[in-house]
Amino acid sequence: MNKKILVINCGSSSLKYEVYSMPDRISLGKGLVERIGSSEGHLKQKSSKGLIEYQEPIENHSQAMVLVIKALTDKDDGVITNLNDISAIGHRTVHGGEDYASSILITDHVIQAIKNNIELAPLHNPANLIGIQESFKIFPDCPQVAVFDTAFHQTIPPAAYLYGLDRKFYDEYRIRRYGFHGTSHRYVSNEAMRLLKRSSENTNVISCHLGNGASITSIVNGESRDTSMGFTPLEGLVMGTRSGDIDPAIVLYLLDKGFTKEQVNQELNKKGGMLGLSGISNDMRDIRAAAKEGHTNAIQALEVYAHRIRRYVGAYAANMYRVDALIFTGGIGENDFEMRERICHRLENLGIVMDYEKNKLMGNKEGLVSKGYSNTAILIIPTNEELQIAIDTFDIVFG
Ligand code: ADP
Repeated sequence: MNKKILVINCGSSSLKYEVYSMPDRISLGKGLVERIGSSEGHLKQKSSKGLIEYQEPIENHSQAMVLVIKALTDKDDGVITNLNDISAIGHRTVHGGEDYASSILITDHVIQAIKNNIELAPLHNPANLIGIQESFKIFPDCPQVAVFDTAFHQTIPPAAYLYGLDRKFYDEYRIRRYGFHGTSHRYVSNEAMRLLKRSSENTNVISCHLGNGASITSIVNGESRDTSMGFTPLEGLVMGTRSGDIDPAIVLYLLDKGFTKEQVNQELNKKGGMLGLSGISNDMRDIRAAAKEGHTNAIQALEVYAHRIRRYVGAYAANMYRVDALIFTGGIGENDFEMRERICHRLENLGIVMDYEKNKLMGNKEGLVSKGYSNTAILIIPTNEELQIAIDTFDIVFG
């Protein structure tokens, strides 16, 4: 029998939610609450029944959840008739540290583990916990599942997760590569297997999640073996506003030059990346438009972006026997055919050969965009983290 699963992604001032009918994977409706904690709170919910919008002060997450329930159960445009319709709840949870290598039914022990990992994700885990606690208040008898961004990467071997630091930093402070976006990389690699009619055994994949945040992962036999984000999401690719890899000595140099710790943090996380390089925007569409008008910094920003991705693809390919599939996903990976083309132009010497015409025509749809003779299948796969959370929740509670 079909079950309705509520998926919750609770951020510090926002709450995303979606209801899925499982196991048939049909989205019944979804919504977003923004500006929690302000007098200009806003909820927007879309479903086949209609659109619901509320504009009112939302003091805290508790009030946000009350509004979510009001919208979900709205008589005319709601998604469910009453709370008993929801059979289980899945929560996006950012950091499971080394405690969890897969999604898990939430118990007191799991809540304590999420709390223990707050110091590794001080912005995200507290918000995720609030979402869990508020859900337990409203749905006290409903099973709830935590789906961790980090869990998929727990299969990465020490060779790839240890930094070249004194062992004490790993032993005492748990400083290591954790990786993020795991739910997305897992979802798109599973989708790729379905599309290619292959099983994950004996299949090697490189998955590029290129959104505002961006990361790249090598996946062997269905397991993550290396990923570009590290101890925090700052490492790796050049992102919308994050620098990605830099020489760590630059941080010391800037501190010596009088920048405060908070200023350096802002430069690396909020003012860097494509925004900092282009001086225009963190949005690829704006940068592309400026580059077409000859804006030098925009042109260079696009070059840096693609160069960094190719550097990682090459490095990961060198650690795999074969690359069977290269996946593009995320806002840029799914929509920006010009960036996909730019990245792939130099990958031909690795046997990764794009069909540029197909790539252009594919737009943002799911599909294969490599030449028939390419050693590696190049795929565009729209990510769907909410669906993966619903799948995990259904499997754990009813599987
Ligand atoms: P998030 O990491 O916040 O989930 P998304 O995966 O939605 O972000 O990606 C958002 C980014 O995708 C935007 O900042 C923009 O750079 C890029 N993007 C979205 N649509 C397009 C498009 N049509 N062409 C190029 N880039 C796009």
